[in-house]
Amino acid sequence: MTATHDLVAFDDAVAEFDPVLGLETHVELGTASKMFCSCSTASGGAPNTHACPVCLGLPGSLPVVNRAAVESTIRMGLALHCSIASWCRFARKNYFYPDMPKDYQVSQYDEPLCFDGYLDVLVDTVEGPRTFRVEIERVHMEEDTGKLTHAGGATGRIHGADYSLVDYNRAGIPLIEIVTKPITGTGALAPQVARAYVTELRDLMRALGVSDVRMEEGSLRCDVNVSLARPGQPWGTRSETKNVNSLRSVERAVHSEIERQAGVLRAGDRVVQETRHFHEDTGRSTSGRSKEQAEDYRYFPEPDLVPVAPSTSWVEELRGTLPELPSVKRARLREEWQISDHEFQTLVNASALDLVEETIAAGVEPAAARKWWTGELLRTANERGVELADLSVTPADILRVEQLLADGSINDKLARQVFDGVLAGEGSVDEVVAARGLAVVSDDSALLAAIDEALAAQPDVAEKIRGGKVQAAGAIVGAVMKATRGQADAAKVRTLLLERLGVAE
Ligand code: ADP
Ligand code: MG
Ligand code: ZN
Repeated sequence: MTATHDLVAFDDAVAEFDPVLGLETHVELGTASKMFCSCSTASGGAPNTHACPVCLGLPGSLPVVNRAAVESTIRMGLALHCSIASWCRFARKNYFYPDMPKDYQVSQYDEPLCFDGYLDVLVDTVEGPRTFRVEIERVHMEEDTGKLTHAGGATGRIHGADYSLVDYNRAGIPLIEIVTKPITGTGALAPQVARAYVTELRDLMRALGVSDVRMEEGSLRCDVNVSLARPGQPWGTRSETKNVNSLRSVERAVHSEIERQAGVLRAGDRVVQETRHFHEDTGRSTSGRSKEQAEDYRYFPEPDLVPVAPSTSWVEELRGTLPELPSVKRARLREEWQISDHEFQTLVNASALDLVEETIAAGVEPAAARKWWTGELLRTANERGVELADLSVTPADILRVEQLLADGSINDKLARQVFDGVLAGEGSVDEVVAARGLAVVSDDSALLAAIDEALAAQPDVAEKIRGGKVQAAGAIVGAVMKATRGQADAAKVRTLLLERLGVAE
């Protein structure tokens, strides 16, 4: 039983201790079939409908390595500047928990496919953007486990449950695991560095097309290792917070663990090497199992699979398929666009670079492209808790709206309503304009009728304008805009009004 200690406020904790981080990230690859059989990886099937003798581990079945998964892992390794093993094997990780029907998971142990790389990440600081180089220990392949649902118990865990349901659809889906070397020298920026690293990994995998990384569906999970030591002292004992599954939670998990460990160390106690569970609701973690109780996985080379021995020519061929990497793209766009650091960082933080680039390529003015994505559309994405790319608005829609603005069919206010309609799934830009009747009223007789009505309602104002007080025109123009629900061109209303009253500007 470990005693509970007071937390130390984050700023005090990082003033007294240096944090060391280690991140182990698991991502489901986007292959069509599983790692060692031809079962589908599609999600949403009825339980146990994507399962066969191989992924169920039935006697006599033999696994075969998925070539596309090996290619994705090598491409990811190359993008992370890793060396690629010329020969490596899979290993069996043995354990007793029924999420794998075989009672072992096929993984890689001391012979990873990719090793010794790095990833540069950018963090916003008060002194401006700062780059940290995160060194990569290894990138290896493994298979995902099945999903268990424990029914009847109070905790949702296997202990105390009346019965458990098992779904092996996910068992055998290819995963890659990316493990960092210990990350030092981040100080107070440790939580942001951890978040920036996972964000960069996600963007990299999307750019490579090896995974679409749907974090909210749990296709990326991160184990967050943290230790603290006084400056100049050897590294401290680390804890490992398991299965953290959002960018924000990665940041919070590091933050809260630094506060917790500082409390333990300040009390003169020692940090226990253990796994911990992060709770989204409280932003804190609780103790899982300690390393003393840790299982021995009895790893040994998988005898049913041949070694993976990628030839140099294959690796070079794969290197040739790498797209422009996100960090390179950022540098290029920053150069091309010539906008302020702050505005550029807003686009980066909103994951809007690709969308803005595509919108400009579609023919929209750069300033307008940036304005729509970081204004109206970003606000909606944030409200809905989704990413910009998940919205139903496309670069082509923005082009169409800009065309309608340019030819005067709609104004800025109506454009916002058009986007509201497109975002609400009411159809294309033109369909929304037609269905909601969103067009600038340019018919002079309709505008004159509205002007006459407004003049009749405010005779005193009308009198002032006639008497030469042109400033008073605003009240009438405002009333007309209101009456036409913003669908008039205000400048035009003003001109018509002054003509009507025979007053010169
Ligand atoms: P395990 O197999 O127990 O998960 P690893 O050696 O794979 O252990 O390390 C897990 C992660 O923890 C790696 O990212 C590693 O760089 C990191 N790590 C190792 N030592 C420390 C430490 N003292 N503090 C923080 N992180 C550490
Ligand atoms: Mg680990
Ligand atoms: Zn199968």
